[in-house]
Amino acid sequence: MKKSAAVLLTILVMLVSIGALVQISPDNMKIRLKLPESFIKKEKTIKNPEDIMVLVNRRYKLSEDYKPKNMVIPKVKFSNNITAEEKQMRKETADAIEELFNAAKKNSMELYVVSAYRSYETQKGLYEERVSQRGKKEADKYVAEPGSSEHQTGLAVDVTNKLGSKGQLQQDFGQTKEGKWLKSNCHKYGFIIRYPYGKEKITGYNYEPWHIRYVGKKTAEEIFEKDIVLEEMKK
Ligand SMILES: [Zn+2]
Repeated sequence: MKKSAAVLLTILVMLVSIGALVQISPDNMKIRLKLPESFIKKEKTIKNPEDIMVLVNRRYKLSEDYKPKNMVIPKVKFSNNITAEEKQMRKETADAIEELFNAAKKNSMELYVVSAYRSYETQKGLYEERVSQRGKKEADKYVAEPGSSEHQTGLAVDVTNKLGSKGQLQQDFGQTKEGKWLKSNCHKYGFIIRYPYGKEKITGYNYEPWHIRYVGKKTAEEIFEKDIVLEEMKK
């Protein structure tokens, strides 16, 4: 009796240990190994690219062939060297950007679109060019790898002021009158500053005061009020 009880206990302990490692996924009932974070392949392909809440970053990537539907060119000002592709954005984004830029105008400020939609191929070109110039480590600090750029969603827009529209985007934009106004007002039109200062470790990207992302007014309001980033919304 004692021996069989010991065997039973051993089996029980083994089952509990296995139970801690194995997780039944409710969506497909397949048994998956629950391994420590470092063992999990970091990159995941996004399954809901059309959702305006879609999370795109270094971990969650868009597939090579994803292109948003219903893209339009908004009636706004563009920076000097913008390409035809980059003028496009999703209809929701375009409507909101017109509203945002009109509000800026009422406050005596001119905003310009520097870059909105970028295809996987365009991003690949930009990334590879930077890698060849500066090496992968430096390139990763400033240019998103293809698939991990929000610009592929048609929901992200890089904006600037008149001075910026003639040259390159710089972090200084955050210190300009337009940059400050954008930071404290873009949520009213459904946008968030996607890569705020101090949140680099969470977003995986450097501070970019010019990069705004459309998420809709309700979410933008919440993110602004709570002073969080999109990654923190998903929890
Ligand atoms: Zn951007």
